Amino acid sequence: MTKKDIKSMTLDELILEMETLGEKKFRAKQCYEWMHKRQARSFSEMSNLSKDFREKCGNTYEYTALEAVDVQESKLDGTKKFLFRLSDDNVVESVFMRYKHGNSVCISSQVGCRMGCKFCASTLDGLERNLTAAEMLDQIYAITLLTGERVSNVVVMGTGEPLDNYDNLLRFIRILTDENGLNISQRNVTVSTCGLVPKMYELAEENLQITLALSLHASTDEKRKELMPIANKYSIAELMAACKNYFEKTGRRITFEYSLVGGVNDTDEDARRLVQLASPLCCHINLIPVNPIKERDFVQSETRRIEAFKNKLEKNKINVTIRREMGRDIDGACGQLRRRHILANKETDGVKDVFHN
Ligand code: SAH
Repeated sequence: MTKKDIKSMTLDELILEMETLGEKKFRAKQCYEWMHKRQARSFSEMSNLSKDFREKCGNTYEYTALEAVDVQESKLDGTKKFLFRLSDDNVVESVFMRYKHGNSVCISSQVGCRMGCKFCASTLDGLERNLTAAEMLDQIYAITLLTGERVSNVVVMGTGEPLDNYDNLLRFIRILTDENGLNISQRNVTVSTCGLVPKMYELAEENLQITLALSLHASTDEKRKELMPIANKYSIAELMAACKNYFEKTGRRITFEYSLVGGVNDTDEDARRLVQLASPLCCHINLIPVNPIKERDFVQSETRRIEAFKNKLEKNKINVTIRREMGRDIDGACGQLRRRHILANKETDGVKDVFHN
């Protein structure tokens, strides 16, 4: 029988668990704080709990903790990219970024991805499995430990489609923003989706204050279909209706992500159509110069083009920023570090463990 995953339990669930175990109710809170506030890496670190109790927990529950197998640090801006090994030997990547307003961590939500976006390295080998809530939290906890720095913002923009792993994502958000845990403000959490319309409606009903980012990347259905297979399922009109609903229900401004691909979606005409889509909504547009991956022949738009695109949006009173390219000198694009690791390990099994070195 597989053991229950204790770190993915909400405090209420843990209280019920402790009752079934015949333990006092307050044990749940103690244990929860050790896991999520103090971010213990094992039951044995929970020093004010009796040895018997810790042993009982060890026999009853699975306790996840990640091992860092690779870290790359940008010499340009201090961005750090981590490759973590999960208990089943799969690997995921996460990024630590320093901004003026605080430190931000970008986490993965799945091992691989099945959405198939053409410019994205995370999807090249398809979906391996979903991450548990604990494994999403663990990425933040491990980075806090390794950097010794506080994390104030979390973006779910790494490998995977978060809304394709909906239940675990919700559990993750609730624990992450719980006052008995790390207590990160919901307003500092962003979830990025390629646009799973029914799930966007569901998310709007969850009574959360998180930011929803939509990967739009095109201004017509035809162009979007060229870049993102999901566009065959949901039209831009359906996406815009779902965004409008999200704003109406939550009061949270939508972010549109628009990766500029040279000669594909960066013309004046594209900008004009994007204005038409964005104007009726309360939104912010994040332009991302595409980060070329060697498996595809997409190229970045020229700097002049990017500026012209931005100006066109601004002239039409659209709130727009060009995403600063963090860690340009390390494998920047989503999924590149993991992919490099997998390919390298087909040749050799040698991995180094930075926690124990
Ligand atoms: N599945 C989610 C999260 C993916 S990654 C989503 O689709 O939103 C976060 C953002 O990076 C998405 O907008 C994604 O389309 C974009 N992205 C992925 N690979 C990229 C690349 N090589 N260059 C630029 N943007 C990329």
